[in-house]
Amino acid sequence: MCGILGYCAREWDPGLVKFFGLQGFNLQHRGQENFGCTYSNGRKFSHFKDRGLVSQVFTKERREDFTAARPLIAIAQTRYATAGGTDAISAQPHWMTLLDGFYSNATNGDLPLLQKEIAELEKSGTVMLSGNDGEVILKKILHGAREHGGDLVGGIRRLMETTPGAYSGCLMTLTELYLYRDPHGFRPLYFGRWRDAVVFSSESCAFHERDATIEREVLPGEVIRFDVFGKREHFQAVPTHAPRQQCIFEPIYFARPDSRVFGDEKEVGHFRYLLGRRLANEHALEDAAIVPVPDSGRYAAVGYASQSGLPLRELLVRNPYIPRTFQIAGQANREDLVRLKFTVMHQLLRQYRRFLLVDDSLVRSTTLRILISMIRDAAEETGLSRDDVEVHVRVASPPIIGCCYYGIDTPEMDELAAANQSIQEIAKGIDADSLEYLSLDGLDAVAGEFANSHDFCHACFTGRYPTPFLPRSR
Ligand code: SF4
Repeated sequence: MCGILGYCAREWDPGLVKFFGLQGFNLQHRGQENFGCTYSNGRKFSHFKDRGLVSQVFTKERREDFTAARPLIAIAQTRYATAGGTDAISAQPHWMTLLDGFYSNATNGDLPLLQKEIAELEKSGTVMLSGNDGEVILKKILHGAREHGGDLVGGIRRLMETTPGAYSGCLMTLTELYLYRDPHGFRPLYFGRWRDAVVFSSESCAFHERDATIEREVLPGEVIRFDVFGKREHFQAVPTHAPRQQCIFEPIYFARPDSRVFGDEKEVGHFRYLLGRRLANEHALEDAAIVPVPDSGRYAAVGYASQSGLPLRELLVRNPYIPRTFQIAGQANREDLVRLKFTVMHQLLRQYRRFLLVDDSLVRSTTLRILISMIRDAAEETGLSRDDVEVHVRVASPPIIGCCYYGIDTPEMDELAAANQSIQEIAKGIDADSLEYLSLDGLDAVAGEFANSHDFCHACFTGRYPTPFLPRSR
């Protein structure tokens, strides 16, 4: 999963460097492994990309270089690697200088037949550097454009017609910016305006700063071309595949709570709140303190508490400087980070003793297993026995029984808790007194309050995949 962002302007505005940096900070949650940027002042391009956070890569020196270049177009990506390494060559944007010009591209999402696409490109003589989805997409667009007399819209159309995928992307030349989204609309992409510049971003939270306005999302199968002379053209490159397959995991877990995704007016945090209310109706528990699993379980916990009338208590404190464990490679690293990331409020343990933890999802079960063990350890530290506290768990989404091939890096099948164990076995494995999940019908009912519930992909909950896919080599 990644975030893409950038702008296209007719004239350089010194405020753009700050706006651009803030956009990156606001999409940091979508990828913390790499940050990269390509920019052009209409005559000359520059680029940088590296391992690290936006604040570590977009350094003072790079900001000064950026400002000195007075760029009219910039594209960037915050990256979480689902294919390829985390070295700078795998980071995005990718770029190529050909005889007919300069091209750079960044994407958010995955190609479910990536290995097949790479094999076909290599067979046609194309040299792959990183082998990740963004590079394949750039090269396929340029191949397709060549077949259409150099027309990049034709190249993107060719990509959409021939390559199943879950991607939103941005492609630039020295003077043009193209935004595009796959025909199923798996991943979100918004554009709008800041002063005189067209700005775009994977999520609407990147528009909150400094008076930017959202115009709308890029539609599935659509290409929008902007240039530095102020021209703008829209192309419905291929028909939308109906129903859409917007990733339901974006509002469940991935997107920021203050974002709107998939064109809805309501914020993601409200979606999670409604999931929590529904969960309380489906799986009630009496006489317990409701405990959010910070941070992404918080809104569902508030919803559960509000629907049940039970008290909401912050038993778990999260250190905000530790990254999302979902995005950390290696089980040992993840377990260490969970222990570093959370602490338990001892006083609340003595006060309540019966707790209901609410989380947004349960993937491997690592986080909940360690949290429950930490709660029982803390009980002993306060003079109670481990079994003097009851710890129940409610999950505000259905059991995850399949991998994602569309850009969310869920683990392999053998690591997915619900793909291999019954709910009772998972509860035992994490040492919970009870465990319940939101039903698929419940998720659909809440999704239906936001958009047409049929417009969402649920493949990781149902095992019914909307496109062909190949297992990934990691
Ligand atoms: Fe999202 Fe799951 Fe579909 Fe992947 S399989 S796109 S995580 S809903």
